[in-house]
Amino acid sequence: MHYTSSADNDKQHHTLLMAEDDPHDAVLFSTMLKQASHCEYDVVCVNNMQNTLDALQKNDYAALILDFNLSGTTGLENVRQISTQHPDLPIVVLTGVDDESCAMESLQLGVQDFLSKNRINAEIFTRSIKYALERKYIEQQLKRALDEAANRNLQLRELAKKDILTNLPNRSYFSEIAECAISRAEKSGYKIAVLYFDLNQFKNVNDTYGHSVGDQVLQTMASRVTQALRKDIVVARVGGDEFVVLVEQLEDGALAYSVAKKILAAVSSPIMLDRACITLSPSIGIATYPESESVDSLLRHAYIAKTEAKDKKDHFVHFYTKQLESLYQRQLAIEKQLPAGLTQKEFSLRFQPIVDSQSQRVIGMESLMRWHNRVLGHVPPNEFIPIAEWSDIIHQLTEFALVESLMLAKQFATEAMPLEKIAINVAAKQFCDNSFSKRFIEIAREQNVPLSNICIELTEGQIINNINQCRAQLEAFKSHGMKIALDDYGTGFSSITHLKQLPIDIIKIDRSLIDGLDNEPKNLALTAGIIEMAHRMNMTVVAEGIERPEEVTVLSDLGCDHLQGYFFGKPMTDVELVSMLSHQRDTTCPQSNT
Ligand code: C2E
Ligand code: CA
Ligand code: CA
Repeated sequence: MHYTSSADNDKQHHTLLMAEDDPHDAVLFSTMLKQASHCEYDVVCVNNMQNTLDALQKNDYAALILDFNLSGTTGLENVRQISTQHPDLPIVVLTGVDDESCAMESLQLGVQDFLSKNRINAEIFTRSIKYALERKYIEQQLKRALDEAANRNLQLRELAKKDILTNLPNRSYFSEIAECAISRAEKSGYKIAVLYFDLNQFKNVNDTYGHSVGDQVLQTMASRVTQALRKDIVVARVGGDEFVVLVEQLEDGALAYSVAKKILAAVSSPIMLDRACITLSPSIGIATYPESESVDSLLRHAYIAKTEAKDKKDHFVHFYTKQLESLYQRQLAIEKQLPAGLTQKEFSLRFQPIVDSQSQRVIGMESLMRWHNRVLGHVPPNEFIPIAEWSDIIHQLTEFALVESLMLAKQFATEAMPLEKIAINVAAKQFCDNSFSKRFIEIAREQNVPLSNICIELTEGQIINNINQCRAQLEAFKSHGMKIALDDYGTGFSSITHLKQLPIDIIKIDRSLIDGLDNEPKNLALTAGIIEMAHRMNMTVVAEGIERPEEVTVLSDLGCDHLQGYFFGKPMTDVELVSMLSHQRDTTCPQSNT
């Protein structure tokens, strides 16, 4: 096309094609144009439709001036044919007969102007050509802009479907794919499985090696898992280190387990990087359609199952069940209420007496947390403590327990009934925080209670996750004279190695071993063994959960040092404990509250 830009319109030289079978008109109109435009327009003339098409094929014309009545052909048909073959060519139609309807139809077919030969003059004609070129140019620009925008939108839409780091589908695109899969499954009757997995310890990778290594690890995992699975299985990245996998056409949802095993193998083999060799493992949750009936519920249920797999630790994969859902809902409700519990001062402490097995006098107490929430009612510590550990709330709870317990201990000391042992339960997470022991000791000092009377209770399961850091913190406590008790001994690991490695002073034998001790030879043998071993290692033994006098007799005979349980007193309020202790102080007889 000769025509290049609107600004050039006035100056440029344009070659126009004129299709006119009347030689007289051809000379007349081309001369009119040339003269009026001061030779801006050059005009090439042809005299029939075929020549017009040939000329347009061979050369590039700025516009076509078309006689509507070329002999042998119909005007509208000519217009239609030319504008279809040359959609970018501006066309101005000249006609000898004024026909409004032909004019309208031609304009609708894309003709720029429709002029009557009878009313034409040089000015009208040149203006018409000029505007035709101008309009066509603007039309083309507009079309190009629209095409580009459409193209860009298409690219953006493609981009919006992908996760930039791994090039895998993202969450929203995965949902679209899963939606289609559900429609297919509805018809075919096959099942669908969604496997939701993340990488255990991935946070450590970022913390230790930095985010660029973290990104490399995620990319490697993405490509490994994709390659390990069948082509028709969709793998998507839905968040930080979280991926989902969609498996269709399953006869049985349990078959998804084999996919989980492939993910396990792909994720677990070590990643060799320049600076490190990293080995990770996945936690995988599985939900199936039609049991989970929508994309949202498939994702949510698989996520819940993944959380369960992570909590259980002994297995890398977990299938979603209804019970899991209600457990999860309850956990969420507790998590939501915990901050309000603190601000509303809904937490309180109960104190359970600990007695000396020989004298049967109260020599200590264990502080146990209680929570009555205005929405959930009474929530037992076994439920809310692990959830409080997810957040920083556990720090505030421990601090609360420590301060309240020490204030009570101070009161006992001033009232001549001092306790030699104030036991505080401490959660695992707090041992990961290096400032924890410092803060704990600070608070204890502020309350002016001898540090050697304070005993920290923690379970083995908690220590095991981070044994080195735990050891350092425990040493710090110990160096200030505090005592460390290993709680719930006899359940879970009960490792002798831990007893050797860690600075433990006290072993608390779990209730499950004490229960029916006098009738259960195995429990008796185990308890006797633990007491014997602990004493040889210079440790004190406390037996928990004593409910019957027979258990007291057996344990005393075995030489267990301290006893704790409903037999001596349930966890009680400070007022009740004060009354119990003052009664003990004022009497010489050993105390028991059967
Ligand atoms: P734990 O430290 O093993 O506490 C002993 C639990 O056994 C207490 O349950 C106590 O009420 C119960 N118990 C004591 N004697 C008997 C008995 O003779 N028979 C029976 N059936 N049960 C007895 P509780 O108070 O529900 O606490 C449960 C767990 O919650 C505690 O187990 C401890 O792990 C945790 N917990 C409680 N308070 C706190 C706290 O302030 N901080 C932390 N981190 N954990 C706490
Ligand atoms: Ca305890
Ligand atoms: Ca215990």
